[in-house]
Amino acid sequence: MFGRAPPKKSDSTRYYDILGVSKTASQDDLKKAYKKAAIKNHPDKGGDPEKFKELAQAYEVLNDPEKREIYDNYGEDALKEGMGGGGGGGHDPFDIFSSFFGGSPFSSGGGGSRGRRQRRGEDVVYPLKVSLEDLYLGAAKKLSLSRNVLCSKCNGKGSKSGASLKCPGCQGSGMKVSIRHIGPSMIQQMQHPCNECKGTGETINDRDRCPQCKGDKVSQEKKVLEVFVEKGMQNQQKITFPGEADEAPDTTTGDIVFVLQLKEHPKFKRKAEDLFVEHTLSLTEALCGFQFVLTHLDGRQLLIKSNPGEVVKPDSFKAINDEGMPMYQRPFMKGKLYIHFTVEFPDSLNPNQVKDLEAALPAKPSSQLTDMELDECEETTLHDVNMEEENRRKEQQAQQEAYDEDDDMPGGAQRVQCAQQ
Ligand SMILES: [Zn+2]
Ligand SMILES: [Zn+2]
Repeated sequence: MFGRAPPKKSDSTRYYDILGVSKTASQDDLKKAYKKAAIKNHPDKGGDPEKFKELAQAYEVLNDPEKREIYDNYGEDALKEGMGGGGGGGHDPFDIFSSFFGGSPFSSGGGGSRGRRQRRGEDVVYPLKVSLEDLYLGAAKKLSLSRNVLCSKCNGKGSKSGASLKCPGCQGSGMKVSIRHIGPSMIQQMQHPCNECKGTGETINDRDRCPQCKGDKVSQEKKVLEVFVEKGMQNQQKITFPGEADEAPDTTTGDIVFVLQLKEHPKFKRKAEDLFVEHTLSLTEALCGFQFVLTHLDGRQLLIKSNPGEVVKPDSFKAINDEGMPMYQRPFMKGKLYIHFTVEFPDSLNPNQVKDLEAALPAKPSSQLTDMELDECEETTLHDVNMEEENRRKEQQAQQEAYDEDDDMPGGAQRVQCAQQ
């Protein structure tokens, strides 16, 4: 925390994005955009309270020309530090909302009773890789994280006595004004958080500094969190540890949030509560019956077999009840396990095999043509094609034709011939 670098130039657009306006939007545009979004996202109308709060936050900053300038130049962090002193700057999102609509329907009584408002610390989000087995069986994962906690010696005051002095750099305001010459007769005044006190407006006398945190108010702590992945949880599901993020003075500690990231499984695919598995049968198995062993996600061996006399068609599905995924928070209920069948045909048969098959299988319609009917037909030759390649070639051809449109050749007949040689 010593020798902290001055706030970085930043290209901040998040607040503009939240309100859905461009960086050059006028005060009036901002007001309109906020009003529209606030009505749409109001928690009383079933909107998301977090989203609503974000909107209010974005509007609060952009609607104030000074804050907007700080935001444009230095980003969100600069503002948060600037507001840290709790000097009465921040508005309650609901107060802004009610200022649009007259009377406030939400703060019905004792509006300012909460007193000094604490800002809320950032939530810390970590991805957590899980396997399909983890989601099927449930799992406990231990994770070691390091985080800031308030110094235990000084309770986050930074000083032995608990006293602090007004920062001489900013006279306790937490903000500094710098002047920039932007032309021969033009100057620009810029406000930014004081670098000496990090925007808090306070400093600590050297002799009074807490010996443990050296006035930083926080120290690093290693913490092991045990994350319980429950049966049936979904990819992207969040597991929240409230108030476990970094601690900071005068701040409500944010949450640690783990977001599950499902690793792809080599055998099973999941869709909601159902599982899908691919299986290839030989033509003989498809016609005459099959059985095989499928190892499930919990290691059980399932014997899967066809019914006597049943024929399995290519690209068909069969399902087994209650062998899918367990349902979240109702793990005794399970979805289905679907098996998708592919049938592998032999490339060719010898004349004896053909004879045997003809004898065994139902009669072919092609053998029922009479000689007279055959006499009236023209002979043709079938050749192998790779449809993917054919389609790709036709696409290229279409592009080429679009390219030389003014060419007066009638279509691509010649090119087709060339390509087939
Ligand atoms: Zn200062
Ligand atoms: Zn301390």
